[in-house]
Amino acid sequence: MKKQYVPDIFGSMVFDDRVMKARLSASVYNSLKKTIDENTRLDENVADAVASEMRDWAIEHGATHFTHWFQPLTGVTAEKHDSFITPSPDGGVIMEFSGKELIKGEPDASSFPSGGLRATFEARGYTAWDPTSYAFIKDHTLCIPTAFCSYSGDALDKKTPLLRSMQALNTQAKRILALFGKEVKYVRTSVGPEQEYFLIDKEMFEKRPDLVYTGRTLFGAMPPKGQELDDHYFGVIKPRVTAFMEDLNDELWKLGILAKTEHNEVAPAQHELAPIYSTTNIATDHNQLTMEIMQKVARRHNLVCLLHEKPFEGVNGSGKHNNWSMATDTGVNLLSPGETPYENAQFLLFLSAVIQAVDDYQDLLRLSVATAGNDHRLGANEAPPAIISVFLGDELTAILEAIKNDTPYQGKEKVIMKLGVHSLPHFSRDTTDRNRTSPFAFTGNKFEFRSLGSANSIACCNIMLNASVAESLKQYADILEKADDFETALHALIKETITKHERILFNGNGYGDEWVEEATKVRGLSNLKTTADAMPHLLDKKNMDMLMSHKVFTETELHSRCEIMLENYCKSVNIEGHTMVDMVRKNYLPAIEEYLFSLANATSLMKSVSTKVKCNYEISTMERLSELTDCILEHVEILEGALEDLKKHDNIISTSEAVRDDVLPKMEALRKFVDEAEMLTSEKYWPFPSYGKLLFSVY
Ligand code: ADP
Ligand code: MG
Repeated sequence: MKKQYVPDIFGSMVFDDRVMKARLSASVYNSLKKTIDENTRLDENVADAVASEMRDWAIEHGATHFTHWFQPLTGVTAEKHDSFITPSPDGGVIMEFSGKELIKGEPDASSFPSGGLRATFEARGYTAWDPTSYAFIKDHTLCIPTAFCSYSGDALDKKTPLLRSMQALNTQAKRILALFGKEVKYVRTSVGPEQEYFLIDKEMFEKRPDLVYTGRTLFGAMPPKGQELDDHYFGVIKPRVTAFMEDLNDELWKLGILAKTEHNEVAPAQHELAPIYSTTNIATDHNQLTMEIMQKVARRHNLVCLLHEKPFEGVNGSGKHNNWSMATDTGVNLLSPGETPYENAQFLLFLSAVIQAVDDYQDLLRLSVATAGNDHRLGANEAPPAIISVFLGDELTAILEAIKNDTPYQGKEKVIMKLGVHSLPHFSRDTTDRNRTSPFAFTGNKFEFRSLGSANSIACCNIMLNASVAESLKQYADILEKADDFETALHALIKETITKHERILFNGNGYGDEWVEEATKVRGLSNLKTTADAMPHLLDKKNMDMLMSHKVFTETELHSRCEIMLENYCKSVNIEGHTMVDMVRKNYLPAIEEYLFSLANATSLMKSVSTKVKCNYEISTMERLSELTDCILEHVEILEGALEDLKKHDNIISTSEAVRDDVLPKMEALRKFVDEAEMLTSEKYWPFPSYGKLLFSVY
């Protein structure tokens, strides 16, 4: 295939600003732009004009259908396609699309999770156009990014609260900037999510029911080689993978997704893709699309893209680093250290806001990344621990220390601190000192939240991040707006924040056991190890109060979300448990038995031929395998019992606790015996491809 010139294809399937400017009349363009930038209501006539141009553009680009594209609480995106056709009197059809159809849709929403929000008699929900995210064409369908709500107005999706959280942060950040004498149109948060994934051969994948049903392997002995040689990280990319990446980039670029960096990751068959950052809600839409398209493109190459956080035991799982910052409409990054002492004071205030937010709402950040899949990573010596802490690097830490203690800052230039705002020294960006074990690290001009799982939507963690930083900023603005002497008050505020929240700052090794001790026992940080531990904190009073006061969630929405997230957790593990039972009873036990039979036959045959043969190998293998089949049977029955017992619980909290305490440990126990049997059984008899085949068969 002839390679296309990237700037020609970039965004070619997006109804973006370039297209709008070229196709819409000046007045329509200007009022749409105002809606996008300033959140104003869209006039109906304008909507009609936009819809009509959008339709023409979409048809010219091969589209036959349109859909309101949204992000329900299933974690994946949803779409229901309608074609543009309307019958015409002459028996033919014309292609129609009205402003009303652009702005609002009414999908039958009864099968989406609502956590009790939507009464069954009211099955309809509605979708509303989010003009801040461009429409695009995918599979001959014009996709219109939308928010999804119930008829009573409760959010049933991830976009609505995300937009609300961005609004909350915008409001409070503008108050702070006004105090520094800066009038800006808006402050928005930006995100660059680094996406990790595995690529395995499609034929191998299809032979593994655990991968097909659950996205991860539930059994599998370690291969002789794993990731110990570190030869995969940044290694030469194999031709099949290169072909996949090239194809993927083309698809993403056409959709205006700024796919930028790609490399091999630590584990065999593991890779990463990072886009250039963009505004949070667009980054969220784009990350959902990226995950979808990765899977689709992989299939075209006879590969399967695994987005699960822990597809393989014993090698690293996949995460998603959420690089986050705040910027004004004029492009000033509020987390970038400034050029002058005065700008540095502003930087330090925003920095303090983040530090305080992470400390005050550790539990919200933790639960925003909690899923059954991600529980396998957090705290497992490959990903940041379940304990949330902030890494600032030595230079910034020293500056905060100096402010806290009113001592001179002993930086490279030995800046002597003076009182007032000017005591906040100028310092260079500290980008070199990176700590890969910290869940929340400052990397020069942004924070990198590293606890997300690879399959997570980035919406949830950004909702919590935006909302909790908005809360710190609100508290600061309340104080500073009343202050007689702004500079003195500012200095005192920063000093107080550091003193109060320094327990969350940690530059050391987050993977060590000593850290768990210190964090929990000495510093009193929370260590919410599993989804079952973390999720109920969504309903803690302090958390509900904060989220509701910034209008990010309503009370009913919070209850429904907690319910849905715990339900997801229980359902995922339940499916895994049943898959294990199925594989053991239908495949593993019969396979081992067949092998035992062949060993027994061979032994008796050999002994009948010669009295000298000992058959040590046959007999010892047979004895151990026979013991193992007994253990496997015993443990599969125990697991079946635990799964059956789940049905007895009548509320989601106790079900999730039973999943954590009962089902998961029993799955673990069963697996051990099967994996041992795998090491003793002839490969010819083993019913499923081994880890070695799964991890090393793509060239
Ligand atoms: P790494 O963490 O692998 O060293 P980079 O520093 O190149 O990678 O950045 C990782 C991601 O952070 C990229 O997606 C990049 O676009 C994003 N990023 C860079 N600056 C910002 C910013 N100011 N706000 C949000 N994301 C950013
Ligand atoms: Mg990174």
